[in-house]
Amino acid sequence: MQEAAKYIEDTYAKILKRDPDQIEFLQAVKEFIGSIEPVFTAHPEFIQQNILEQMIEPERIIQFRIPWMNDQGETKVNRGFRVQFNSANGPYKGGLRFHTSVNQSIVKFLGFEQIFKNSLTGLPIGGGKGGSDFDPKGKSDNEVMRFCQSFMTELQQHIGPDLDVPAGDIGVGAREIGYLYGQYKRLNGSKAGVLTGKPVFLGGSLGRTEATGYGVVYFTDKMLQDTGESFKNKKVVVSGSGNVAIYAIQKVHELGGKVIACSDSDGYIWDPDGIDYTTIKQLKEVERERISEYVQYHPKAYYYEGSIWDIEKEYQVALPCATQNEIDGENAKKMIEKGVIAVAEGANMPSNLDAIAVYQEAQILYAPGKAANAGGVAVSALEMSQNSQRLSWSFEEVDEKLESIMESIYIEVRDTAKTYHMPGNFVVGANIAGFMKIAQSMISQGLV
Ligand code: GLU
Repeated sequence: MQEAAKYIEDTYAKILKRDPDQIEFLQAVKEFIGSIEPVFTAHPEFIQQNILEQMIEPERIIQFRIPWMNDQGETKVNRGFRVQFNSANGPYKGGLRFHTSVNQSIVKFLGFEQIFKNSLTGLPIGGGKGGSDFDPKGKSDNEVMRFCQSFMTELQQHIGPDLDVPAGDIGVGAREIGYLYGQYKRLNGSKAGVLTGKPVFLGGSLGRTEATGYGVVYFTDKMLQDTGESFKNKKVVVSGSGNVAIYAIQKVHELGGKVIACSDSDGYIWDPDGIDYTTIKQLKEVERERISEYVQYHPKAYYYEGSIWDIEKEYQVALPCATQNEIDGENAKKMIEKGVIAVAEGANMPSNLDAIAVYQEAQILYAPGKAANAGGVAVSALEMSQNSQRLSWSFEEVDEKLESIMESIYIEVRDTAKTYHMPGNFVVGANIAGFMKIAQSMISQGLV
């Protein structure tokens, strides 16, 4: 066996032995190492420096208890995490997820992906992620506030504008960030740069809310244009109905495509007239309702229970914006049958390894999340810059910067895939381009 292949295999075996139960983390590592062998062949010094094992082990993991009181006066206990994965390129940066599924494996997989995503943005941010198994669904505002205050009471000692800058993710939006920021400020005084995704009046950036969704669509648009295609008259399916999905739908419509379906964890809606994103926004963000309610406002639409990827309609572009592992090999085969020519991931790791193999076999365009959804964290980094300068940029300025960052990421990913003799393989392109900057940065700083 080649030295590079053996080094990668041996390193994976060590990881597997250390954390055999961390299914999602192992999956993310497997996806990553599946494409980086050519780099180790070209750079034997990386093997000598054992850079892969260093990169796969988080710098630090913080786990803590979050006691809080519900509206009935009962004491509840949740578990909190912050994984400070890699600071070679700057302060740890990445969101907080509040969802019942959150555990160390999930936070580690998200933190691992975040390192390379953040590196691809070209901005000075390291990689981290955190969250809790708290479920905000069905909780009152006061309960969410008390939970966030308790969460931050512990987390505050581990974060800071130049140290670690959390933001939102699933279950953590403007409401939660507001409460988290309030508690941080109560304990440490005002330091806007400690969190991003803040409401604008608390020092948030215009355009941050829209950034992940818009960014996925900008990336997809560049990718389509490169093959002589565009969103014009394309039918699009967007999974999810949260912050990423909502603004992806809006942007697809702006660029001339039609989103025919979107979903939540119970089912999906199909609207032959195109999904009205303002209704979704009202239902999900204001009323905190289920998506099935959409049909009350749009009588031509239908609601179906089950996975959106079982949809029996023809469409050309799939934008998975819900959650990890929502698409398996069978779902991916169905997509191809329905006419899909491009998949771009707004969510983190929504396609499992079988699904990715199906896309690659069918030779459709496939943009992995760490490249396609980097727009959110990129605008978070712009928010950090604005906070440091005590300035705020206009929506148009931020949006323009976002589009140009997404274009640069696309070009870098595409060109890296070509350099490594796998043109069109954006998994290889994203992983290698993200990896190179981190590896060089780590090596130049010595063992720390
Ligand atoms: N949670 C988002 C992501 O997956 C954004 C992180 C951030 O803005 O720091 O990239």
